[in-house]
Amino acid sequence: MPFQDSFRIFVTALLRKMADPSSFATAAARVQHIHWNVKLDFDTKIIQGYVEHHVIFSDPENGPCEVVFDTKGLKISSVHLVEDGTPVTTLTYKVLAGNKKCDQLGEPLVVTFLKEQIKEDHVAIVRIEYETSPSSSAIQWLPPAQTAGKVHPYLFTQCQAIHARSMLPCQDTPSNKCTYSAVVIVPSPLVALMSALSTGSQDLEDGTIQYTFDQKVPVPSYLIALAVGALEKRDIGPRSAVWSEKEMVEAGAYEFAETEDFLQAGEEIAGPYVWGRYDILLLPPSFPYGGMENPMLTFVTPTLLAGDRSLVNVVAHEIAHSWFGNLATSKTWGHFWMNEGFTVFLERKILKKLRGSGCYNLAAMMGLKALEDSVNLFGMQHPFTCLCQDLSDCDPDDAFSSVPYEKGFNFLCYLQELVGGEELMNPFLKAHCEKYKYSVVESDGWKAFFLEYFQTKGVDKTKLDSIEWETWLNTPGMPHIAPTFDKTLINQAHNLAKDYVEANKKPAKEDFESFSGLTEQIIVFLESLQALQEFEGKSEEAKAKWRLLLDDINKAFGFNDSRNSEIRFRWCTLCIRAEEESIYKQTSAFLGEQGRMKFLRPLYRDLFKTEKGTPIALETFEKYKTGYHGIAQKMVAKDLGVHL
Ligand SMILES: [Zn+2]
Repeated sequence: MPFQDSFRIFVTALLRKMADPSSFATAAARVQHIHWNVKLDFDTKIIQGYVEHHVIFSDPENGPCEVVFDTKGLKISSVHLVEDGTPVTTLTYKVLAGNKKCDQLGEPLVVTFLKEQIKEDHVAIVRIEYETSPSSSAIQWLPPAQTAGKVHPYLFTQCQAIHARSMLPCQDTPSNKCTYSAVVIVPSPLVALMSALSTGSQDLEDGTIQYTFDQKVPVPSYLIALAVGALEKRDIGPRSAVWSEKEMVEAGAYEFAETEDFLQAGEEIAGPYVWGRYDILLLPPSFPYGGMENPMLTFVTPTLLAGDRSLVNVVAHEIAHSWFGNLATSKTWGHFWMNEGFTVFLERKILKKLRGSGCYNLAAMMGLKALEDSVNLFGMQHPFTCLCQDLSDCDPDDAFSSVPYEKGFNFLCYLQELVGGEELMNPFLKAHCEKYKYSVVESDGWKAFFLEYFQTKGVDKTKLDSIEWETWLNTPGMPHIAPTFDKTLINQAHNLAKDYVEANKKPAKEDFESFSGLTEQIIVFLESLQALQEFEGKSEEAKAKWRLLLDDINKAFGFNDSRNSEIRFRWCTLCIRAEEESIYKQTSAFLGEQGRMKFLRPLYRDLFKTEKGTPIALETFEKYKTGYHGIAQKMVAKDLGVHL
């Protein structure tokens, strides 16, 4: 590598230390607006076109006249200075080597300007012509066979955490937010949607359709999203519609009919909804996540279609991101808890308002179990079990777990109790959104804001002084102060499970009659059974006992026939662990019907662990792997020790 290049990397690394370790972008120049103009080719799986960045330099007189973009696997063909809407002058650029310790960070693109090319207001517009790689980690191209309609192809993107750089050159850091506009050309008759306002479409002569979009609220790069397919919509509220292939659109409209209620509950607690529309895109089954909070257009998995609106807490969660994450954004991935902890906090407040405190308590306790699982998986001392995380030289996806969500939620519950309850905490959430809207937030600055706010509200200083910030934010492991949630419904579910397992009570249909009717309580019941099964060990005798018990439970409650994905997931897990062979067929079917990693990875891992299940896991993966998202394929292959 030439000296000049290694020197550049050294300087870049120094600057990087001041900003976001997950991005090569520096503070010398910030993007204010992105214009994206591209055409999609489903045959070659390539997005080709250009991106224009409106850049503002912090000090072009004395500082470097260069701007650093993140890229990953992109083919750059030219870089121009734009004047009066036209690319006029070629700019010097270099794609440098990335971070050897973490290739997921991609390769920095450094564009150099001459001082005189930067206007007096320190602004310049740069156009980068490029194309994506067919293996771009942000983009999933689905052939018609993997869609519900089987006729047209489909595309969707997932940029969180640092995949936007594999879709377009950008400053791929949440510390910089910008507005964006886009022109996207797709084959007819496909429909394109983005995380932005759709401003029109036009049929072109070559049989393609051009769609235009505008996002006037500044967003971080990870919230740029695109979906293209044979999409239809059904209105479900004054500012909301469900989009999906026509085969699922009615089911989606029924399932998500409470969306407007969720939005209004969110507004009452956190303040005005600034985005205008709130639509939901119901994706094909291979979408690897539960939901993604793309602004104005939440992406959700069809595994939420339970038919009884029992799994829509995911929609409440994504709606809550309209304030926490999308409006007030964590400055870096190391402060991710400020997106997710706050979002879970608001999600559960919304659910409490609409479904009652029983629902809230069950969700909080289920969250606590998920937190315990994550902490046990990482290890009690692992730095990824801290709320604030140092993500230098690593892929933020590797740190992903329920820790930022649930430890963050527990911290906020603790603070809420300390300052005097919801009546005081809810107005603070509004103040938080007001202060950090359109901007970014990090833990230390927020701590000062929190203390100042509650001091002026007259909260006792000794109380505020008693908060152990360092322990909450920077110490690994479970929260050091146990939360106090009402456990009535949890205990009821847990006791019934114990009666079956320890007191040999015969399961009967009526046993659920005294339950709350909430699906969450059934889930807690199944999780209680899992804990008891784990406790009894894996001897042949224990497994035989469990097979008989599970058969009785199924006769009473019909779990084998459940269409609720959360229940199926837990029921299959119980049966797989007991090596109940009759479950293999429907487990394989479940693994073939959808590609959500929350279900795939644990089910494959559990199947693979047992002697009889191992070949089932391998055969099932071989059969369905091409239908999974690239990230899911990679992760399951890793879990099963197979090469793709
Ligand atoms: Zn979230």
